[in-house]
Amino acid sequence: MNADMHQKVNADHLKRNAYLYIRQSTLRQVLENTESTKRQYALRQSAVALGWPVERIIVIDNDLGQSGASAADREGFKKLVADVGMGKAGIVLGLEVSRLARNSTDWHRLLEICALTDTLILDEDGVYDPSHFNDRLLLGLKGTLSEAELHVLRARLQGGILNKARRGELQCPLPVGLVYSADGRPVLDPDKQVQDSLRLFFETFRRVGSACAVVKTFHQQDLLFPRRLKKGPRKGDLVWADLAHSRVLEILHNPRYAGVFAYGRTRTRKRIDGTSCLKVPRDQWLVIPDAHAGYITWDEYNDNQRRLRENAQSHGEDRRKSPPREGPALLQGLVVCGICGGRMTVRYHSRRGQLFPDYYCQRDGIEHGKPACQHVNGEGIDRALGDLLIDTMTPVALDLALAVQQELEGRQQEVDRLRQKQVERARYEADAAQRRYLLVDPANRLVADVLEAEWNSKLRALAQAQEEYERQGRADASRLDDSKRARITALASDFPRLWQDPKTPDRERKRMVRLLVEDVTLVRGERITMHVRFKGGATRTLFVTPSPGAPECRKTRPAVIQEIDRLLDDYTEEEIAPILNANGFRSGSGQPFRRSLRRSLVFRLRKAYRLVDRFTRLRNAGMLTLTEMAQRLKLCSCTVKDWRDLGWLRAHRYNDRGECLYELPDSDLPQKGSWGIRKHRVSEVPPNRSEGVQYEA
Ligand SMILES: [Zn+2]
Repeated sequence: MNADMHQKVNADHLKRNAYLYIRQSTLRQVLENTESTKRQYALRQSAVALGWPVERIIVIDNDLGQSGASAADREGFKKLVADVGMGKAGIVLGLEVSRLARNSTDWHRLLEICALTDTLILDEDGVYDPSHFNDRLLLGLKGTLSEAELHVLRARLQGGILNKARRGELQCPLPVGLVYSADGRPVLDPDKQVQDSLRLFFETFRRVGSACAVVKTFHQQDLLFPRRLKKGPRKGDLVWADLAHSRVLEILHNPRYAGVFAYGRTRTRKRIDGTSCLKVPRDQWLVIPDAHAGYITWDEYNDNQRRLRENAQSHGEDRRKSPPREGPALLQGLVVCGICGGRMTVRYHSRRGQLFPDYYCQRDGIEHGKPACQHVNGEGIDRALGDLLIDTMTPVALDLALAVQQELEGRQQEVDRLRQKQVERARYEADAAQRRYLLVDPANRLVADVLEAEWNSKLRALAQAQEEYERQGRADASRLDDSKRARITALASDFPRLWQDPKTPDRERKRMVRLLVEDVTLVRGERITMHVRFKGGATRTLFVTPSPGAPECRKTRPAVIQEIDRLLDDYTEEEIAPILNANGFRSGSGQPFRRSLRRSLVFRLRKAYRLVDRFTRLRNAGMLTLTEMAQRLKLCSCTVKDWRDLGWLRAHRYNDRGECLYELPDSDLPQKGSWGIRKHRVSEVPPNRSEGVQYEA
């Protein structure tokens, strides 16, 4: 055997390196099954025995802990194949074929490359030369067996797992809050803090009704949530961390919290880029109700699912990059956040019966219960984009594009002539070869064979040239003719018309945007920066002044405030409202000014704009209160009021309760003898009583 092994190894092999490939499927095997790893490293001795110096034996062991079922994640295997392909390897060493590959495709590819580069393969049984048929057959068989072995192992395991699952005895990893008891039954975690956290969690969801609100509640109260590490050296340890939105959903969707054993909720499937996890519809799960203790009932679990589904309809994934819908937000599904790079979602607000879009970046905020990253009022943005598209789709721009196209076509014709000449030349050469072949004496086999081969190759070249020529001809035929060009030019004038036509549905307008624009990145600052990326790579940056928010829109116009300020000189607040209405002034939200008992709008505006109130104005003008006036005139206050009613004193009302401030009389007052005393009204009956308090016009 040894002699046989040495026979296959020659000086050429020894000149190149030896590659020792080492692999164990899982980290656990690496840690526990050290014997196998040792045996694999010991294989190095075989290479030394065959004549390789130790320093030329390259050990590839980066795939320790990787399964051999696919080459996708095995960097070491990829490097090995690459080095073999470049002819760097004289021999590849592996303890068994199964170490190198448990997948026929990977294995046969390696064999093929080894055969091409004259590389040997060594396993525990001997040395193989893949370029020899017998060796290759044997290696192929070993590879097939190794793959089959994996399949059988897996099938046996799978069958066992399924049987156990049907009985509800399968020990799947439990979510936090549940642990296996000593007899292998799932029970509530004996850690009281963990239990309480989960109870609070479900209680909170019962109260607030949405996953997002649960995150916010925990966040606001600075509560941490337990988590069990699923892998790594600290596997099984309990850690406390912030509750994230995805965790909330995970817990709410997990039926084990309802004491239900459910198997087959997900399925893994192999894809070209590795394996992926698929969700299985609920009616296909294997469900055993009341299998163990839980935190909620099965009914509550189902109730929670229904609630989550309802919530998802308004805020789900589908609101992000998505096909155009009916809403008027032009950029729905195309907006990217300029701060964090996430997709922004659309919300609408209605103002005076019209819908306006707002673009929100809130994914991260939802996940961690924080405020949204940024939000931008979409009104100005949509308008700016519309204007940009109309500007871009001008007849001038299209003419330029068509001119470039024409220029390219001109060059195309030149190329076409050259290509035609090439075909002619090929045809001439084929004819010449044919003539030479026909002229030769058929008995002269040697010459005839050569000429025939030459004729054949010339015919092949001719066919190729002709085919190429026809293919190009077809491509050129799809060039623009005049009618197409006219239609494109017409589009430039049609576009603004179509865009502005109110009858064009929003969905169609959005489709037009999607034909032209790849995406739009928004950053909100003093102005909104808007980077538009067109299909084809051109970019434009626009700056948009943010459109005023709702409070600004509802702000009272300055003219109204000025008018109130002017009227306060002469009227009380209650009197001002009807005057404003009569003169056509309206509040910020377009409503007339109403009289109200307390806190009228005029009062609130006066306060908000710090206008001087009527009382102060009158006082500043030197007017006296009732008491002051009574003191000044040495009268009782009733008499002052009587005099006011008689028209002897001028008074100005400053509120709705009829309270007045008095003007100092400039003319002489009535003589003492004619004073009326309120109690015994002996003197003149007021001549103009009906006029009452004097108001200034
Ligand atoms: Zn963001």
